[in-house]
Amino acid sequence: MTGNFDHVHYRCAVCGATYEVTLDRFTCDCTGVLDLEFDAPAFPSSLVGRSHGLTRYVEALAMDAESLAAADLGSGRTPLLTMGESTYAKCDYIMPSGSFKDRGAQVLAALALRLGANSVVVDSSGNAGAAMAAHCARLGIDCVVVAPSSAPAAKLYQSRVYGADVRLVDGPRSAATTVALELSSRDGTLYASHVENPFFTDGTKAWSFEVWEQLGDAPAQVVMSVGNGSLFIGAYLGFRYLLEHGFTSRIPKMVAAQAVGWSALAGDLSHGDELPVADGIAIVAPRRFDQIKKIIDVTGGEVRTVTRDVIKATVASLARDGLWVEPTSAVAWAAAEQGPKYDDGVVVSLGGAGFKSSVD
Ligand SMILES: [Zn+2]
Repeated sequence: MTGNFDHVHYRCAVCGATYEVTLDRFTCDCTGVLDLEFDAPAFPSSLVGRSHGLTRYVEALAMDAESLAAADLGSGRTPLLTMGESTYAKCDYIMPSGSFKDRGAQVLAALALRLGANSVVVDSSGNAGAAMAAHCARLGIDCVVVAPSSAPAAKLYQSRVYGADVRLVDGPRSAATTVALELSSRDGTLYASHVENPFFTDGTKAWSFEVWEQLGDAPAQVVMSVGNGSLFIGAYLGFRYLLEHGFTSRIPKMVAAQAVGWSALAGDLSHGDELPVADGIAIVAPRRFDQIKKIIDVTGGEVRTVTRDVIKATVASLARDGLWVEPTSAVAWAAAEQGPKYDDGVVVSLGGAGFKSSVD
């Protein structure tokens, strides 16, 4: 497979510059974030008979089916549990590496394969690193995970078990990014950032396609924990694809859930010296802040914040209902419980498994 992407290119979200898809391109020369631009034909009239997972939705994705299949560990088609009247939990914690990051990681691993990379570098405080480590292991591609030394031990352990070279960096989260960028400058290396690389977000569109198939339509509202927003943005793009091709008549109100004191979207970064309980969304300056804000605005959504005590209580109450998720995911559930409820469906993303983190 060659690295040639004739049908798809990057476009800067800030200045509009376009670039070919190459191994060393992950941001605009103006420092703006890149999006993908390509023509995505409609799904056929029926998807019956197709395998589950990302290849099921290949028309809508920038990556080819052959590369996706090579990197497949069984991501996607996660359960949509009925939790109450018209309230559903999308259980992405039941994924190959235990988090929603697996769909995007599968696409980035496929991209590494397609571009002929022999190694991948990712900076992550947890789930994205573990997801990349797993999918690189599937393809036999070396994976370096650069993490802040404050990252949860369980998540780093998971990356090591998959065979990744885990490097800890002291200092703020941005210090890990600096080291990752240095390592990524080596020949044959892909910087597999779920924040920068829009192929990751392209893969997370499948979240919406799954929900649409499971419900028979797009729901009225979606509630997600938002850190860098890769699932939030991807889910919106997925619903927009469905709308543009006439598969639904609406895009859900997109509700972003964050923790009190750690909410860039609500303008509340008052955490001081306190460590976050929802470590997966403790992002003080999201790279795609403007895109997240715009999605909230155009869909009629909102930002909701949840206190530390409520996050811990929600982890416990969900577990006693049989759903063991990490605190980051409990933020979304707690935010959904704030309402309002919708008769025609609220879908809450539970994106990370409980074994990955601890509230103690
Ligand atoms: Zn630019």
